[in-house]
Amino acid sequence: MKAYVEPEEVTLMEKATSYLRDRLLIRLLFRLGCRISEALGISVGDIDFNQATVTIEHLKTRLKLYCSQCGTRLSRTAKFCPGCGGGVEKAVAEEKEHRRRRTVPIDRDTLEMLREYIDRGGTVGANDKRLIFGLSRGRAWQIVRECAGRAGLGQLVNPETGEVRGISPHRLRDAFAVHAVKLDDSGDSLRLLQEHLGHQSITTTMRYRKISGEEQKEWYEKLWKTKEVKPDGP
Ligand SMILES: [Zn+2]
Repeated sequence: MKAYVEPEEVTLMEKATSYLRDRLLIRLLFRLGCRISEALGISVGDIDFNQATVTIEHLKTRLKLYCSQCGTRLSRTAKFCPGCGGGVEKAVAEEKEHRRRRTVPIDRDTLEMLREYIDRGGTVGANDKRLIFGLSRGRAWQIVRECAGRAGLGQLVNPETGEVRGISPHRLRDAFAVHAVKLDDSGDSLRLLQEHLGHQSITTTMRYRKISGEEQKEWYEKLWKTKEVKPDGP
């Protein structure tokens, strides 16, 4: 069983779509390597047709817990406050929002697809902007699943846990990352990939290097490169 989706399989998924909108969704998830929430948040104003870039916004909400007695920050699993030693049944929750924007390149072919889609009136008005997709997260998931099924793609195996999983929007992000590291896994290339994916830590990006198997292969090949290992004859 495979661990990730191959670029040719993404093409099969695109061909299995019935609507330009669905084809564009699959295309953007793969070519931008963005998160599903990021793809659904892209508006017409985020696309720069001259520079061939897309600005992506990553919105993350984190729940922070505080002790209601002394205000000490609490971990999610804490039973007692490390500040005052009291029980934390009445922890105060505060939601913290983090917004990070990044501008990434997009290929000309996908830009043309976007242009056609916008010209056909596919976009959806939301407040003061026009969203590319007027889809819910659930519907977007469904589209990706359905197209993977129609394209005849099987289940995947999580290379870290061995768990079997279906093809979801995040697997297209993985497919992009693995495709990139297989082509070039130098430090410079990994840093560009980190920026493109919007990873805060390079450690997260380096996981893809491991997934692609290149790291392990290189290590193994090096074992035999230093000197020829000959079997001991009698
Ligand atoms: Zn306390």
